Amino acid sequence: MELILVTGRIVEQGRFVEDKISHEYENSVAAVFLDEEDMKVLGVSEGDRVKVRSEFGEVVVKVKRAKGRSPGICFMPLGPWANAVVRPDTHGSGMPDFKGIKVVVEKTGEEVTPLSRLVPKYLLPPRTEVEKVPGPEQVFTDVACPFCGCVCDDLVVHVVGNRVVKVERACVLGMSKFLNHYRNRILKPYKRQGDKFIEVPYEKIVDEVAEVLVNSKYPLLFGWSSSSNEALRIGVKLAEALGGVIDNTAVFCHGPTILAEQEVGVVTATLGQIKNRADLIIYWGCNPLAAHLRHGVRYTYLAQGFFIGGRKNRKVVVVDVRETEIAKVADLFIKVKPNKDLELLRALRAVVNELELEVPEVAGVPVEKVYELAELMISARFGVLFFGLGITMTRGKYWNIVEAIRLVQDLNKWTKFVLIPMRGHYNVTGTNAALCWLTGYPYAIEFAKGYPRHIPGLTTSTDILLRGDCDAVLVIASDPAAHMPKRAVESMSKVPLIVIDPKCSLTACMADYIIPSAIVGIECEGTAYRMDHVPIRMRKVVEPPPGIRPDHVILYDIYAKVMEKLRR
Ligand code: SF4
Repeated sequence: MELILVTGRIVEQGRFVEDKISHEYENSVAAVFLDEEDMKVLGVSEGDRVKVRSEFGEVVVKVKRAKGRSPGICFMPLGPWANAVVRPDTHGSGMPDFKGIKVVVEKTGEEVTPLSRLVPKYLLPPRTEVEKVPGPEQVFTDVACPFCGCVCDDLVVHVVGNRVVKVERACVLGMSKFLNHYRNRILKPYKRQGDKFIEVPYEKIVDEVAEVLVNSKYPLLFGWSSSSNEALRIGVKLAEALGGVIDNTAVFCHGPTILAEQEVGVVTATLGQIKNRADLIIYWGCNPLAAHLRHGVRYTYLAQGFFIGGRKNRKVVVVDVRETEIAKVADLFIKVKPNKDLELLRALRAVVNELELEVPEVAGVPVEKVYELAELMISARFGVLFFGLGITMTRGKYWNIVEAIRLVQDLNKWTKFVLIPMRGHYNVTGTNAALCWLTGYPYAIEFAKGYPRHIPGLTTSTDILLRGDCDAVLVIASDPAAHMPKRAVESMSKVPLIVIDPKCSLTACMADYIIPSAIVGIECEGTAYRMDHVPIRMRKVVEPPPGIRPDHVILYDIYAKVMEKLRR
């Protein structure tokens, strides 16, 4: 059966993202969500296995019933199973197509595709729990959450000895990160030797890693979005010294947003202003009830602001290709055809600019609904457009965001309107901001010529990997093996791969060198930027395990060794 595939986040994937080797992660991510009508046509029930095939690959996953109604559209959670079938080409934008992909789904008796077939060179490094150290109970208030771009900084964290035992106010995703900080840890530096990982003293692995980087002609330093700006600052110096590329996870999330903002500017506000003033909240191509669970309560439709508050005083509109959880609580849900957001945005601009639409529908949306939405926007006292990967990852990519920004600019002729991208990793915004003030560019910065260059489609990590241009990769604070298309991951496996991460990620399972680090916001301090660019100090609530250093310390040691070798 032919269907259109959309990928995205779900709550379970977020809950188990800290241990991608676990059965829970596989159970939640190795799945395809089908509409009940499509399930009947395919003759499958929940739990049956199906093969999902696209022109880029195939994978076997379990069937789950989609909660909303979206016949003809299937959904897979972000992860290595979805990445096996997504379109890797970036069309010069740096962003692969993670949504709107034609797939064939058929019933199969085959087993779910194991991780070992999806992650090249798959080898599990020794991983363990941090040993419990007794101690008195301490309570930390105003702790910031190092999970999503909301960076909620009102948490109350209870610690006994070296363990977080209770977290107040966090959502299930933040809670899971705090309460499981000691699990799935790599506690020693390791190096791959044949079919096993061997332990290497810290000074020796730093020396070997520096040697690999110095000997490479075009190294890629990738990740950064779940680390501090202090670490990033050293990363930039390292990339410059090596003549390599520094890039972050924006390349497969809001890269197109940043390009568009640089092109046409942006009308924005802080989440505090939105909480206090916004009476119209639009979520376009995003589902905060899956990825940013406290967004509504803390900042938008359920928040109690100074001048406005509560659900009944604010209108909520959702625009998406399928009926998500947030669509069910909206006052108006607009179902747009996959890959047609650009058409709808342009139609809305036309109506806002008092032009007439002479067609019965636009992008699958009846024109009456387009007028209804335009009217809601114009008549709002303070409107906000939050948007997600539903429009950055689909056809049009950067142009979708250009039109969204221009729509908001047009709306400011009538009323106050702003827009904010829903950023995923807690410091992805900070990484892009800090890269801008350190190099002049927000991501995908190359130093091969001795000065920074930013050429989307050329210096973006997905394109570099797809072309096989780099000869060493350093991954820090991210897991590209779980989030990049399979072909890019395969390319990464062909060069020396260095991973700096507190936990055993899928990328660590294909690494040649692993250096464990402390968790920013739990085991060490650091600076992060919330999705609205507000800097927030991440606090330390427990001591890191013995011998485990923060990212910025590890990077500084590598940088010092690199400089020493370069001077020889
Ligand atoms: S909404 Fe995001 S930042 Fe806030 S508690 Fe949940 S995961 Fe943490």
